[in-house]
Amino acid sequence: MSTTRVIAVANQKGGVAKTTTVASLGTAFAELGQRVLLVDLDPQACLTFSLGIDPEDLDLSIHHVLTKGLPVTEVMATTEDGVDLVPATIELARAEADLLTRTGREYVIRSMVEDLDGEYDWVLLDCPPSLGVLTVAALTAATGVLIPLQCETLSHRGVGQLLDTVHDVRRFTNRELEVWGVLPTLYDGRTTHARAVLDTISETYDLAVIEPPIPKSIRFAEAPAAGRSILTTARSTKGAEAYRAVAKNLVERG
Ligand code: ADP
Ligand code: MG
Repeated sequence: MSTTRVIAVANQKGGVAKTTTVASLGTAFAELGQRVLLVDLDPQACLTFSLGIDPEDLDLSIHHVLTKGLPVTEVMATTEDGVDLVPATIELARAEADLLTRTGREYVIRSMVEDLDGEYDWVLLDCPPSLGVLTVAALTAATGVLIPLQCETLSHRGVGQLLDTVHDVRRFTNRELEVWGVLPTLYDGRTTHARAVLDTISETYDLAVIEPPIPKSIRFAEAPAAGRSILTTARSTKGAEAYRAVAKNLVERG
């Protein structure tokens, strides 16, 4: 009985709002009554920190699940935003190196998700800014990949490489993986430039665009320091509403 949808939020470029998207979409899903688990796959632990948990206070984290076989339930935390979290610490950097020589490394996240036994409607994977072993393991565990993209002239550099990786994952470790599309983030709707860049990328790579775009807003910068997602700190801003609309579209698609 597994209707769990697993989304890998991936782009090897940093600063495109992967972590913000995971926290905000996750909270938006929870508002819709969905059971949500967020997974921090970045050794920088920004997702963990932004949901009010100080990685320095943690004895156990995802690193112990991926490399030491600890049950995921022993490291999970609940958050004030109504979502559960598998937290990360800087130790995850070492896990990445350890995994490189391990058999079955592509499957470590898939097997972690399988151990959850369909207890969640959504599992969102916050990928690190690389196409290394953790991102490949995330794609191997995923139902769909969602690519946050800042619509600037050079932002498509790297999309091709990410899609090549998706291709390899489909060939070798996860035949079912679907690309759900690009999510325009840090979007400046006042310029026609942003829309033109988005259209070019979507045509060049034959990618669906997930609507609506997430507007650029200073309010996003404030949320992580509060340890809550923007859906709570800035409840009815355009940015929060945009993430709610995306969540609704994804639930309907589900
Ligand atoms: P990534 O995980 O891809 O590295 P982050 O989610 O950490 O990206 O976001 C990078 C920075 O951009 C953060 O400081 C974040 O607060 C900010 N940010 C994210 N989304 C928006 C937005 N829609 N408008 C303005 N700033 C944003
Ligand atoms: Mg991040």
